[in-house]
Amino acid sequence: MHHQQAELNTLLEQTKQYLRQQVDLYGDDFFISMKPEKPNPPVQNINSLEQTVKNCQKCSLFATRRNVVFGSGDPHAKLLIISRMPDKLEDAKGAPFTGEVGELLDKILGAIQFSRDEVYITHILKCKPPEITENLKQYYSVCKEYLWQQIALIRPRIILALGQQTAQVLLEVDDPISQLRGKVHQLKGIDLIVTYHPATLIKQPEFKRAAWEDVKLLRQRYDTLLK
Ligand code: SF4
Repeated sequence: MHHQQAELNTLLEQTKQYLRQQVDLYGDDFFISMKPEKPNPPVQNINSLEQTVKNCQKCSLFATRRNVVFGSGDPHAKLLIISRMPDKLEDAKGAPFTGEVGELLDKILGAIQFSRDEVYITHILKCKPPEITENLKQYYSVCKEYLWQQIALIRPRIILALGQQTAQVLLEVDDPISQLRGKVHQLKGIDLIVTYHPATLIKQPEFKRAAWEDVKLLRQRYDTLLK
C-alpha cells in the first residue's frame, strides 16, 4: 500500500513538472488548447450542411478559395460520385465538373444510362488549394468530415471514386489505380468502384477502354443492388 502511494506521488510530481514546462514554453495558450472544442451542431439536411461548409474556415484553404464547391445533384441519389478537389474552373464557378472535364463526365454517365440530375457529385476537398501545395493530407483529414456527413445524409447505395488520389484517400491505401480499379471496395459499408478521372482521360485517352470496363461494372453492380 505504502509502495503504491509512493508511486502515485512520483507520478503526480512528474505530471506537475511536465505541466510547468509546458506553461514555460507556451504560456496560457497551452491551457487554451486543452479546452474541449465546441461540438458542431447536428446537421439536419443537405442544405444546412451546405450553408455550414460555405462559411467554413476550418483550414487555411478558406483564404485562397474563390468559391466553396460543395457538390450538386440529387440529394437522394443512389449513386454518389467523388473526386479529389475543385479545379480552377470549378473554383471560379462554385460548381463541380464544369467545362470540358464536366462534358466528358456527362458522356461517360450517359453511356451507362445515368444523367447528372439523378446522381450526386462532390469532392473530398471543398476548396481549391493553391497551384503548388505540398502535403494535401492535412487538408483532406480536416475536410473529410463534411464528406462523411454528406454520405450520411444522401445515403447512396454505390460510390464511384474518380482518380487514384481520391481512391487512396477514401480507402486509406497507397496502391496505384491499376490495382484499385476493376473491383468492388467498401467504404462505410457502401460499395465503391474506382476509375480514372475524366481529366486524366482527356490527357491520356489510352485509359478510356479501362474506364469503360469500370463504369460497366458500376452499372451492373448498381442494377443488382437496386433490383
Ligand atoms: S477545404 Fe474544407 S475544411 Fe478547409 S476551409 Fe474549405 S470547406 Fe473548410
